[in-house]
Amino acid sequence: MDCINLEVPTVLKGKTALVTGSTSGIGHGIALCLARQGANVVLNGFGEFEAARAEVAALGVKAGYHGADMSKPAEIEAMMAYAQAEFGGVDILVNNAGIQHVAAVEEFPAAKWDAIIAINLSSAFHTTRLAIPGMRARNWGRIVNIASAHGLVASAQKSAYVAAKHGIVGFTKSIALETAQTGITSNAICPGWVLTPLVQKQIDDRAAREGIPVEQASRELLGEKQPSLQFVTPQQLGDLAVFLCSAAADNVRGVAWAVDGGWTAQ
Ligand code: NAD
Repeated sequence: MDCINLEVPTVLKGKTALVTGSTSGIGHGIALCLARQGANVVLNGFGEFEAARAEVAALGVKAGYHGADMSKPAEIEAMMAYAQAEFGGVDILVNNAGIQHVAAVEEFPAAKWDAIIAINLSSAFHTTRLAIPGMRARNWGRIVNIASAHGLVASAQKSAYVAAKHGIVGFTKSIALETAQTGITSNAICPGWVLTPLVQKQIDDRAAREGIPVEQASRELLGEKQPSLQFVTPQQLGDLAVFLCSAAADNVRGVAWAVDGGWTAQ
């Protein structure tokens, strides 16, 4: 994957990035873009991880993996301790792990609500509270929270996801204020539709529900929300994360940056 090439190609050399949920989709794309700029990377997420780790290592940086379940604070603490012991701490924290469940609120399983709030929102509190002391000591840090267009506007049937994503946008702003006079910044990226397993499931469910081909379900999904009628790509999000980590973004603080093909402009 080709990523944006800033003037100094190894602008992040010597930094360590921890990207939650980076065995797949957006997190994987962001991990690759940060590695291409020279950052060492700690990957996290479920499923097969060795291929993703090898892909990052092939870029000439140190690549690690920790399988912490982001719904479990004790496992998050173990992951941050691993990053400290093996990498000397976390300079760039990308809170990306997330899940989705689609149902009307009166039918929403309580356990799914709890899981979405834990993984999509509370995990960022735990990683951030554990990463900030080291960032303060080094007076440099980047916190990039992967929110969503659903952090800015709502859709029906996604109450937990919308609550978590609005929550993480607010959390991002609070941390930006708490660190405003330091070299640490905190920002959110708000993607529209990105064709990852998380969205493919929604397209497949729609095709099955309406008895239509998957391609038609995909076109309908985009047409409802995303005026560009194009999926955002993990690489575009990775390139924005690289920019947020650059010196040019030293005073970008507390923003919720939409990359959504015009979704939230409507
Ligand atoms: P994905 O399903 O491809 O990847 C999710 C990643 O999170 C995987 O690596 C998975 O293993 C990991 N994960 C899930 N539960 C976890 C847990 N409990 N602990 C640790 N890791 C866990 O999804 P994606 O589309 O790449 O989504 C990544 C993020 O981007 C999510 O926060 C999602 O809400 C957000 N987002 C996605 C879209 C989109 O259109 N795909 C749009 C806006 C925001």
